[in-house]
Amino acid sequence: MMNKSLRNIPPVHELQRDAMFIKLRQKYDVQDEVLTVHIRKALEGMRSDIKKGIVIDGEFAEIIWNDVENKLMEAHQNRLKRVINGTGTILHTNLGRARLSREAVNRVSEVAANYSNLEYDIESGSRGSRHDLVEDLIKDVTGAEAAMVVNNNAAAVYLILKAFAKGKEVIVSRGQLVEIGGSFRVSSIMEESGAKLVEVGTTNKTHAKDYYDALTGETAMLLKVHTSNFKTIGFTKTVTSEELVEIAGNREDVMVYEDLGSGVLYDFAKEGIGDEPVVQKVLETGVDLVSFSGDKLLGGPQAGIIAGKKKYINHLKQHQLARVLRVDKMSFAALEATFRAYLNQRPTDIPTVRDMLQSLKEIREKALEFITAISGMDSFQADIIKEYSMVGGGTMPDVTIPTYTVKMRHDSLAAHVLAEKLRKGTPSVIVRTSGDAILLDFRTITHGELPDLIKAMELLTYRG
Ligand SMILES: *Cc1c(COP(=O)(O)O)cnc(C)c1O
Repeated sequence: MMNKSLRNIPPVHELQRDAMFIKLRQKYDVQDEVLTVHIRKALEGMRSDIKKGIVIDGEFAEIIWNDVENKLMEAHQNRLKRVINGTGTILHTNLGRARLSREAVNRVSEVAANYSNLEYDIESGSRGSRHDLVEDLIKDVTGAEAAMVVNNNAAAVYLILKAFAKGKEVIVSRGQLVEIGGSFRVSSIMEESGAKLVEVGTTNKTHAKDYYDALTGETAMLLKVHTSNFKTIGFTKTVTSEELVEIAGNREDVMVYEDLGSGVLYDFAKEGIGDEPVVQKVLETGVDLVSFSGDKLLGGPQAGIIAGKKKYINHLKQHQLARVLRVDKMSFAALEATFRAYLNQRPTDIPTVRDMLQSLKEIREKALEFITAISGMDSFQADIIKEYSMVGGGTMPDVTIPTYTVKMRHDSLAAHVLAEKLRKGTPSVIVRTSGDAILLDFRTITHGELPDLIKAMELLTYRG
């Protein structure tokens, strides 16, 4: 019987003479050779399925053509594509971190499609500096004396160390020698920059005295790194920004720099969410420079924002590396719109801030609308259950925000199969799994995404 199935597989030359061959060749504008490669692969797949004992239901040629067409469609699709984030993790680094505000997207599109005054001073009619574009906005929002923008926060850390501490000593608490996302380590970036790392204190406790004892004639900087993605609890002590400023106090040649990681401009702690240091407050302590990411809790494009004292920022702007790490006009456009939302007291225009603050009521309403829409699909069992969302992006590791999810089971598909089918669909839907069910967290799914999400579920019921 198995041999009979194998014998029923159509040969390549027969498929090459099929009307579908010409149809697909024209539709996808591919050469005969390429099409034949796809056919051979599809035939191989079928042969191996049959040998594994899988019963193939349906017309063989039709299945082959379907398979070939799927491959051709895949090859035509963009590699970087939209996904629906059903995980509830607001800043999912793998899913592109922050989504931009409508206004930011409009500004990007306008600046990208047209000429702009990126480096042109319209007032004087002469060459301008791209640094000036958002500097005033950043100053107004953060209260800093000066500011500049580089490619990302890792670049900011690197530039600052290189510009001010190359060949000199930088004092860091052992509790702050962090690794972010596997590819960024404070100790490694320090080595790369040519600065000499001087570790003080212990993993859980560092005192002001530790810094005083480590100060030498070679000290260029006291560096404080925000422990973005982990928490030390229990018997702990860290030295505050104020104390660091005091320690460096009478040493004109020693600066205080704080890598804040996620740049929080909106005080989430006030809403009872986490205890992230707010950029404005850290600058008020008198630290010389701070830096933070544009696409973490700030909710903007990928960028590294450096803010602080003018004499240091001026030095950085003139550094050779500033050119190497410089930011594109599209990022400036998005950043400007994002900072403007903070300045105009409309932070919830920014999707990241909005999603962080979203009420349980709003989330539940979306979940309800979804569950009502799929109620006619018999193969699903779905319930709304209370769960927790994470912030993600290596920020607020200990914070969970109450949310509503839809917990779904499928009659015949296991949770991991369901998750895979949703992931591979168009648009791709990323979900969490929990035991034999999938979880869709409606904190990170917008109302506008519901129709596509519902369509994705419909497709699953057809395929069974
Ligand atoms: C995230 C983070 C970085 C890296 O920022 P990117 O913008 O991702 O380059 C550096 N330092 C800290 C403390 C961080 O949390």
